[in-house]
Amino acid sequence: MENNFLSAFKKIISTQKKIVIIPHRNPDGDALGSALALKHFLDAKKHEVNIVSPNDYPNFLKWLPGESDIIKFSKTPSIARDKINSAELIFGLDFNSLSRIQDLSEIVKKTKVDKIMIDHHESPEFFANLNYSDPSMSSTCEMVYNIINASESKLLDKKIACCLYTGIMTDTGSFRYPSTTSTTHKVVSHLINLGANGSDIHQKIFDSSSLSRLKLLGISLSNLIKIPDLPVVYITLSKKELVLCDFKKGDTEGFVNYGLSLKGVNFSCMMIENENEGKIKMSFRSQGNFSVDNFARNYFNGGGHLNAAGGVSMESLDKTITHFKNALKNHISELI
Ligand code: 5GP
Ligand code: MN
Repeated sequence: MENNFLSAFKKIISTQKKIVIIPHRNPDGDALGSALALKHFLDAKKHEVNIVSPNDYPNFLKWLPGESDIIKFSKTPSIARDKINSAELIFGLDFNSLSRIQDLSEIVKKTKVDKIMIDHHESPEFFANLNYSDPSMSSTCEMVYNIINASESKLLDKKIACCLYTGIMTDTGSFRYPSTTSTTHKVVSHLINLGANGSDIHQKIFDSSSLSRLKLLGISLSNLIKIPDLPVVYITLSKKELVLCDFKKGDTEGFVNYGLSLKGVNFSCMMIENENEGKIKMSFRSQGNFSVDNFARNYFNGGGHLNAAGGVSMESLDKTITHFKNALKNHISELI
């Protein structure tokens, strides 16, 4: 973290303010964990803090300390709009382009107050006037830890530790992706010493599947297709299959990773037909140097990290599969 960022951050929060913290749409463990940890820290510093999420999130995140106070724009748009319009400081966490907060983007753009972005995705758009962007970081939670630890470490407590542990754990695939450094482990060690219970958090996040979610995983795995002669797989889920398994938000989280567990495969894609929004949600994972961030950016209007990215297709599932296969043809030499 640059000293410039830290001193500017400290100066801005040195006087009490109305603050809004915004995670990206469809927030995950890192987006919510970092937003809540930052809120707990700023609450302790006597600011008036609200988290405004663009939309709802999976049930397995609904135990996080402070979660019940989160305002969801999709549920209570006028409350969310009022909070943003009356804020004196806005944080954007775990995203680096306003397009990632969709409908909130226009509201935020019109505000004239200071904005602070904290994020670890590639190719930042620097929408804020103060930015802490570091794609080498495991997670936004690790960055929020750095900020709190460097500015007022005595305020780190069990609540904050639980939130930060959750985001680091989920964004590193339980500490196994290459973004997990020895520093990440040191941070996690400190969080455990502060009272975060790793096995308890792991169980709350990963051992809370419904029976219908496991059935949906079964369908996904039987739909998995290996591309002949390439180390690539794709998995599809149709509207019909989602309805059959009583799909709930978050049920497909992690499914795309199963593609990479097939020996020799280094690129896995998941395409999910989204009934409500008339589009296909794309997820990409890779192992090694193949950049799914670039792939998602070039072909599916998305982005993310080197080895984990997302995007969208407005075409039918069949046409999306064809588009995906055609795009692959441009990358054969990088994949084998
Ligand atoms: P997932 O496949 O789990 O939805 O997303 C993987 C990663 O890519 C996450 O870090 C997420 O923030 C990012 N991501 C997902 N969807 C999009 C998208 O549509 N645009 C961009 N820029 N990033 C995305
Ligand atoms: Mn993240």
